Amino acid sequence: MSERTPEAEYSHELPRLALDENTRRQRGEKIKVSMIGLCGCWGCSLSLLDVDERILELLDHITILRSSFTDIKRIPERCTIGFIEGGVANEENFETLQHYRENCDVLISVGACAIWGGVPAMRNARTELEDCLREAYADSVTRPGEGPSLIPLHDELPRIADRVYPCHEVVKMDYFIPGCPPDGDAIFRVLNDLLNGRPIDLPTSINRYD
Ligand code: SF4
Repeated sequence: MSERTPEAEYSHELPRLALDENTRRQRGEKIKVSMIGLCGCWGCSLSLLDVDERILELLDHITILRSSFTDIKRIPERCTIGFIEGGVANEENFETLQHYRENCDVLISVGACAIWGGVPAMRNARTELEDCLREAYADSVTRPGEGPSLIPLHDELPRIADRVYPCHEVVKMDYFIPGCPPDGDAIFRVLNDLLNGRPIDLPTSINRYD
């Protein structure tokens, strides 16, 4: 893991400024929900946006922290429900997922990348990580013709993992919503069932990816 300076702030860490008292009280009365993207394409995060106006039905009961709805970069307090898009492909993904496991009561893998690695896990078929990096950067057909042939390496860049891991191989995941991406309907159903204390019911009409 790369050295970090005392003032460095990682994207999953808590904000340094305290919330104002009124906001803290209002949020404290609601169920906190969050969604983050690891190694994915943000398609599953867009499916959360596809919940559309139905999210308004839930806002009396939930407050949405870090997500594609809010653009909040960190979870400032413990969440009840954390949705995760994407697999685990670098050291920051590991840290972020472990932080979410420690700070979310229920953790849900959303989509193929979170569940089994998805498209990024195609690199697992290669035995050497260097082969993948060489093909992606140094020997890429889209590399500019001029200049040195380089593989990016810098202390500020998270180190790439030896392979792409599904989330449940790194931490315990509580639920899985399949799809690439899952329908917004599926995410809404799961969220609504959890909020109402019901067993999760995903009919095949909106869960066609098993
Ligand atoms: S499962 Fe599909 S839509 Fe979701 S992050 Fe992966 S590639 Fe994108």
